[in-house]
Amino acid sequence: MVMSESEVVIGFGSNLGDRAGLVNQALQALSELPRTTLTKLSSLYETVPVGYLEQGAFLNGVACVKTALPAAALLKSLLEIEKSLGRERIARWGPRTVDLDIIFFADRIINEVDLVVPHPELTRRLFVLEPLCEIAPVWRHPELDETVSVLLNKFQQSHPEAEPCRRLCAPVDGVLVKEKVNDGIFYRYSESCGY
Ligand code: AMP
Repeated sequence: MVMSESEVVIGFGSNLGDRAGLVNQALQALSELPRTTLTKLSSLYETVPVGYLEQGAFLNGVACVKTALPAAALLKSLLEIEKSLGRERIARWGPRTVDLDIIFFADRIINEVDLVVPHPELTRRLFVLEPLCEIAPVWRHPELDETVSVLLNKFQQSHPEAEPCRRLCAPVDGVLVKEKVNDGIFYRYSESCGY
C-alpha cells in the first residue's frame, strides 16, 4: 500500500548541554528520516521552564515536515532521535537534552495510549504557540476548529502574566536548501549551517 504524504508539525526543545548544537543535530536527524522532508523551520526561542521550575532555560522551536510515515512510526523515530542524543527520562517536565513532540499530524485526531494528537498541551504552551504562529498561523486545530493565531491570541488574553518567549534567531541563511523533488519544491536541512 502506498502511504500518501501528510503535513506534520513537530515541536522541539532542549535545556541541557550544548542546547543549540543538540537542536541542530535533532533537526539534521529529522531531515534524514526515510520518506520525510523538512519543509519549514521557525526561529529559535528561549523560554523559561514551565512545570518543574528548578532547571535551566529552554531553546524551543517548531518544524514542519512532509512525511509518508504513519504517525506511530514517526513517533518511534522521534523517540530514537531523542535517545541517540542522550535523553534520559528522569523527571516529567524535567531537564532534557532534546525533546521532540508531534504537535499536529495533518488534520488527524489520535487518542492512543502512547500518542495523543494534536498535542494536548499545545494550547497552554507559549513556547509552542509562538513559533507555530510564526510558520503556520492559519493551521486549524482539528478538535477546537480554531486557527493557531486565534489560539495564541486567546492564551495571551487569558494569561496576561505569562512571560513571552524571547526570539533568539531566525534559521541561518542556507539552513534550508531549496530543491525540486517530484514536481514540488522542498527544503532540505543543510548540515553545514544551523541556528
Ligand atoms: P515527553 O517526552 O515528556 O513529552 O513524553 C514523551 C512520551 O509522551 C512518549 O513516550 C510518547 O509515547 C508520549 N506522547 C503522547 N503524545 C505524544 C505526542 N503528540 N508527541 C510525542 N510524544 C507523545
